[in-house]
Amino acid sequence: MNPSKKFASQADLEEKMVSFKQISEHAWAYTAEGDPNTGIIIGDDAVLVADTQATPAMAADVIRRIREVTDKPIKYVVLTHYHAVRVLGASAYEPQQILASQDTYDLIVERGEQDKASEIGRFPRLFRNVETVPAGLTWPTMTFRGKMTLWLGKLEVQLLQLGRGHTKGDTVVWLPQERTLLSGDLVEFDATPYAGDAYFKDWPQTLDNIAALNPLALVPGRGPALVGEKQVQAGLAGTRAFVSDLYAAVQAGAAAGLDLKTTYKNAYAQMAPKYGQWVIFDHCMPFDVTRAYDEATQYPDPRVWTAQRDIDMWHALEG
Ligand SMILES: [Zn+2]
Repeated sequence: MNPSKKFASQADLEEKMVSFKQISEHAWAYTAEGDPNTGIIIGDDAVLVADTQATPAMAADVIRRIREVTDKPIKYVVLTHYHAVRVLGASAYEPQQILASQDTYDLIVERGEQDKASEIGRFPRLFRNVETVPAGLTWPTMTFRGKMTLWLGKLEVQLLQLGRGHTKGDTVVWLPQERTLLSGDLVEFDATPYAGDAYFKDWPQTLDNIAALNPLALVPGRGPALVGEKQVQAGLAGTRAFVSDLYAAVQAGAAAGLDLKTTYKNAYAQMAPKYGQWVIFDHCMPFDVTRAYDEATQYPDPRVWTAQRDIDMWHALEG
């Protein structure tokens, strides 16, 4: 480890190349080399966007791409979970409804303000033109528990909670007719899963529940769109392996009575050879190990990250 490692991703300033690609009859993927993705469903009479980008200025680029392929109204924005980098661009779409699980709504109430400040501090590049974010928080206008079905004309769109994982409120968007899934951060590909707000014990089962749908195409939270059963299974397996390996390493440290810093060093050394080349590995590891250590010891639910707690943790583990 490099003792002068800059906090989180404050040193990550290089812009990524965006790609906008059709992955099934009604679904498109807006991806950016490991930066947060947006999934787009174009139905018979309306467009649905899942995860908004971090600012309205950045969402404007998504809208520009959508307008290259359709002039149907963007009626629905789905928040797969509460993280600021996924939700603060919502206003740009001027949607009729902003949809989220009730669990996600509850997390916005409980920790939305702190999360906004914390995320902007961690990753300034991902909040381009942050001044375009309206004051306050992005609030869902409709919520559901477990499952909600939308009909975009004849196209069935299901919003499903398949279990906890990346957060308590994780929602996936599922098109049963073409077996296409937008996963949010429950699945990543060639990118490190952020697990600072995760439920490590539940996440693998939730991935199994996604696999049981047998998707033919999947837009992960980060990384390229996965097309074909083989790529989808690779994405699910990679995420499952990371989450399981990390939790096993941390649990072993906690069970042996090691403190957090020692456990972090051991876990980092174990994980780096296999996963160190995934984007944001160094950014995620301190947060992921801290949460895993919490879950393995005395905190069944993730503690709130504040901008100050972020910095204190970073100094404790990387200082
Ligand atoms: Zn997230």
